[in-house]
Amino acid sequence: MAVDFNTIVIGAGVSGMTAAIYLKRSNIEVAILEKAAPGGQVNWTNDIENYPGFSHIDGPQLAMNIFTQITDLGVEYRYGNVLEIVIKEDYKIIKTDNGELTCQNIIIASGRRPRRIGLTNEQELTGKGISYCAICDGPFFKGKRVMVVGGGNSAVEEAHYLSDITSEVLLVHRSEKFRADEIAKERLFSKENVKTYLNYVVVGAQEENGKLSKVYLENTITKETLEENVDGLFIYIGHEPETTYLENTGIKLEDGYVVVDNRMATNIKGIYACGDVIKKEVYQIANATGEGAIAALSLKKDVH
Ligand code: NAP
Repeated sequence: MAVDFNTIVIGAGVSGMTAAIYLKRSNIEVAILEKAAPGGQVNWTNDIENYPGFSHIDGPQLAMNIFTQITDLGVEYRYGNVLEIVIKEDYKIIKTDNGELTCQNIIIASGRRPRRIGLTNEQELTGKGISYCAICDGPFFKGKRVMVVGGGNSAVEEAHYLSDITSEVLLVHRSEKFRADEIAKERLFSKENVKTYLNYVVVGAQEENGKLSKVYLENTITKETLEENVDGLFIYIGHEPETTYLENTGIKLEDGYVVVDNRMATNIKGIYACGDVIKKEVYQIANATGEGAIAALSLKKDVH
């Protein structure tokens, strides 16, 4: 069966793009398929300080560097949101909202999406005060009062970024224990315009004239409620894997994440996975790139 490409990488985050570099350099005919801008979650990170080789680099810049590298190498770049994968005996069909592609092998690198709080009007207010990306939307809140939710590195680092732009940042976390690194916490809590609400969750958001105007909080211990007038609500409460399109393929998933072995191989021949979409302990850029390389080199070894 003649296929469009030997291998298709689904997702142009750092892991998928790294896999594409290794495949192309191994002379494997590869296309990378992406539904948004190249870079994935990295585009939503303001300042990266723990990626070797760069004391500081902003996420979109790192994404663009890798994207330039893959296009210079001649990797085919295709746009499309994957809706379904059909696995045939000797080839695979990837169905997208922008047509179909066929291939022998697939590397799944579709990453994760930000988790929603589940407020009744969360979707409606997204882009009208509610945001999941400080680097994208922060500048719209210059001199305004904003709230950030979460206790991980994303919440703490992005709250720090927002504290330089806005008049005040209210950081709301559901417990007293932060997952964020010590250095990130110290930097944030040294800022005078940051106020912290510990043991609080967001239970409601009020809209006024089509925009977010107020957020309701509830104390997780005392059940006391309070309200805060804010213009922005930045939500950083973790992620969910982008794997809905894999549900009926027979590819083994756990909690929605793709299960791989230490060669990044899934339970289906010719299908590998890497980056934030896989079930693992550490979700960092440094290991996502490494997993992309492993997936590509395992694939090469298996097919040649
Ligand atoms: P995370 O580390 O999983 O933290 C999620 C936070 O959201 C936790 O504090 C969690 O609280 C809270 N949370 C979860 N569900 C919630 C809910 N329904 N309501 C309220 N709060 C909720 O997520 P992340 O900060 O996005 O980071 C993801 C990964 O990327 C981590 O491995 C992180 O280290 C990494 N990362 C690294 C860097 C860096 O190294 N510079 C930057 C960004 C992200 P509990 O703690 O109570 O569960």
